[in-house]
Amino acid sequence: MAIKEFKTATKRLLDLMINSIYTNKEIFLRELISNASDAIDKRHYLSLTDEKYASSEEYHILLSYNKDARTITIKDNGIGMTYDEVINNLGTIAKSGSKEFIEKLEKAENKESIDIIGQFGVGFYSAFMVADEVVVKTKSNASEKGYVFTSKGMDTYDLEESDYNQSGTEITLFLREDTEDYQYSKFLDDYELKRLVKKYSDYVRYPIQMNIVHEEPVYDEEGKMTDEVTKEVVLETLNSMKPIWKKNKNEVSTEELNDFYKQKFNDYQDPLTTIFTNVEGLLEYSALIYIPQKAPYNLYSDKYEKGLQLYTKGVFVLDKCKELVPDYLRFIKGLVDSADFDLNISREILQQSSQLTKIAKNIEKKIISELQKMLKNDRDKYLEFFDAFGINLKYGLYDNFGEKKDLLKDLILFTTINGDNLKTLDDYVKEMKEDQKYIYFASGKNKQAVLALPQMDKVKSKGYDVLVLTDDVDEFMIQILHEYEGKEFKSINQGELDLVSDDEKKEIEEIKESKKDLLSKMKEALKDEVSDVVLSSRLTESPVCLVSGDGLSFEMEKVLNQIPNQKGVKASRILEINPKHELFKAIETIYEKDPLLVDDYAQLLLSQALLIEGIPLEDPVKFSNMMCKLMINNAK
Ligand code: ADP
Ligand code: MG
Repeated sequence: MAIKEFKTATKRLLDLMINSIYTNKEIFLRELISNASDAIDKRHYLSLTDEKYASSEEYHILLSYNKDARTITIKDNGIGMTYDEVINNLGTIAKSGSKEFIEKLEKAENKESIDIIGQFGVGFYSAFMVADEVVVKTKSNASEKGYVFTSKGMDTYDLEESDYNQSGTEITLFLREDTEDYQYSKFLDDYELKRLVKKYSDYVRYPIQMNIVHEEPVYDEEGKMTDEVTKEVVLETLNSMKPIWKKNKNEVSTEELNDFYKQKFNDYQDPLTTIFTNVEGLLEYSALIYIPQKAPYNLYSDKYEKGLQLYTKGVFVLDKCKELVPDYLRFIKGLVDSADFDLNISREILQQSSQLTKIAKNIEKKIISELQKMLKNDRDKYLEFFDAFGINLKYGLYDNFGEKKDLLKDLILFTTINGDNLKTLDDYVKEMKEDQKYIYFASGKNKQAVLALPQMDKVKSKGYDVLVLTDDVDEFMIQILHEYEGKEFKSINQGELDLVSDDEKKEIEEIKESKKDLLSKMKEALKDEVSDVVLSSRLTESPVCLVSGDGLSFEMEKVLNQIPNQKGVKASRILEINPKHELFKAIETIYEKDPLLVDDYAQLLLSQALLIEGIPLEDPVKFSNMMCKLMINNAK
């Protein structure tokens, strides 16, 4: 006997399958057929360079069932498995995704809605959802002997030599007993199996065949039906095989494209949009590109692999060809079929292929132009897209010193303070007031927070719109853009805003001149904390605000300081005081009465400005003590 133990993770997975928390049990057939098809792919691929893998018969996948024995058998003439391969592939979950899979499955609340089996390469074990015993007979072209693997889905499996002598694999499932909840025997039926193949495996490139018995009643001489029937067995091919992308574009319905996507890329939702192109000329290829509705759960993890599948003349070459997808479009799924590539091209050669680079460029342009069309013609859909993937476009714009900024700048949407709709920069510029020179922006948690900033006083009163920046990358992106249609970007808390008339400017100059001593006293008091104390032209209602000097902004300071080993970045701080506010007048009075008190007032003003800006105080206790002192003094 050769009883072996499953690896621990495998046991847990089996357990989950057997206890069947996943209700869409019928996908077991899709998984086993896809494995069979993969196995044939592998054999075919090797046979191109190695005689011993050549097959004398046509490649096929054979389905059969036995009602009495309650078995379903899936047989292929693919690569088969050696002894070690059976242990490694069926006795172990070696794939990194499987642990995540188990966690995901255990955590999932709505188990029915999650079609994640297969996405993680645990397809084979799905057999145990419907079977209580699985027997795998297999022989590899690379091995003299055949083997039989038997498992009841418990802790162990049995692996022995067998006389199975055809290259390939035959998997037999012994179906579970029917229960009140589930009729496992429904799979022991021509129609049901045909239906499942059509639904899940129609585009498998090899014929999926089944012997179908056709019964014809026998008629007697008088033409009356007798009790007898003649039986004729016909080997039928159940799938249409022709790859969808090889069909004529107008022959393919949206539904077909969507079904193909869900089946191929393991999504349970339709794609948001599909791009299907056939390019002819110097560069020849077909591409079928999908933008999902939602980001895959692991899109932002290191484990996520971007890429498109690569085929040549309908034959699979490579699973995740990452050269075909720029980083910022890493969420797209799909495939490219081009006759220009050799079937056994190596990854290294592929990387240097100028054909591939050209195709990648074309595809990128195509996707961007489709997105532009969507933005123009179907705003709601674009909003959905932007909600899911807008952040990727922003990073794309910022990356490589803005190399892609012209391509992407019109695809970015912004929340703004005027109105509830998201706006493009084009929308913003078109709505600019006649006297408005800049595109204003402000960073904050959300629109409300931005609206509450004292720096917004003047801009608001002018009726100018302001872009509300909420993502970490936003200010960096704006900095890379620098301008749009000749209009410069201007932060509402940085530099001169050009918000006041020449008369007002003159007035402020005059106050500044007359209060020179007071201002320099305050500046002296705050010399360790701020680079300047100035009279503000951006405030109307509020007494003070904190702005940053040119270069680094407070928002960038915050973002950069979150990066490990990057502590201590600091934007320069300027305290702005509203010369028309009563508080300023109060300070003037204090200055005349008791100049020493101005130090405390300056500290208090700065603390307030910091708090409003959302920057934590370095010494909150000192702030509190000063407040107390002021309150006590007031009571005297
Ligand atoms: P995946 O298909 O994602 O690799 P599966 O759990 O479906 O994961 O299959 C595990 C492995 O078992 C496959 O990668 C393959 O090596 C092997 N295998 C499964 N079915 C077959 C088969 N019919 N012929 C050859 N190898 C197979
Ligand atoms: Mg599989």
